Amino acid sequence: MKSVQNIQGLLKTIPPGIKLVVVSKTRTSAEILEIYQAGYKIFGENRVQELTDKYHRLPTDIEWHMVGHLQTNKVKYIAPFVHLVHSVDSLKLLQVINNEASKNNRIIECLLEVHIAREESKFGLDREGLKSIIQSPDLKDLNFIRITGLMGMASFTDDVQVISQEFRGLRHTFEEIAKHNYFSPGQFRELSMGMSGDYKIAIEEGITMIRIGTLIFGERIAQE
Ligand SMILES: *Cc1c(COP(=O)(O)O)cnc(C)c1O
Repeated sequence: MKSVQNIQGLLKTIPPGIKLVVVSKTRTSAEILEIYQAGYKIFGENRVQELTDKYHRLPTDIEWHMVGHLQTNKVKYIAPFVHLVHSVDSLKLLQVINNEASKNNRIIECLLEVHIAREESKFGLDREGLKSIIQSPDLKDLNFIRITGLMGMASFTDDVQVISQEFRGLRHTFEEIAKHNYFSPGQFRELSMGMSGDYKIAIEEGITMIRIGTLIFGERIAQE
């Protein structure tokens, strides 16, 4: 029950209004169930297969988030149940999510992932790519997805300044977009930044959602 104590301790340090996504990748269903039974129901995974397996094994009122890179050909497996995809980084992927959501007659919420770290990465949009999705005339036809905000991951560094700057930069981008009324009032509202190592910095920079694994469950054994 260590993880339950950890999450209760963590929740005390998080201002109200910030949503905690418990990142449960590599953890067993039993470990997740302990937290669920303590009353906590929002979990995030980064692999489609693992997410789908856990969805089938665990209580159906869990709110499942996909936080890892999502390939278009795998969207169909999670479309029946996923609540929020944090990692959308192309219009094509949005279209596929929309299509699969429509088959399931449900709306899937999506965050656009923006690449803010120094490290090279195949994933995440640059500012231009983000702009072109948000201004795309095709968006209005996607009635089964809802873009509710942005997601970002800071550099792997101990340099607090660098991390703060990256988070702040994304918050400014977020505010710019929110200001322009591309979306319905209240729709564009989430900023998902901050993991175990940097969530305190993220909170200072004005985010709405943090994604925490290690601080709750302890160190992970690396995924293959
Ligand atoms: C694993 C992961 C997290 C959680 O990382 P911790 O350092 O264990 O808190 C958050 N976001 C994403 C996208 C992840 O893959």
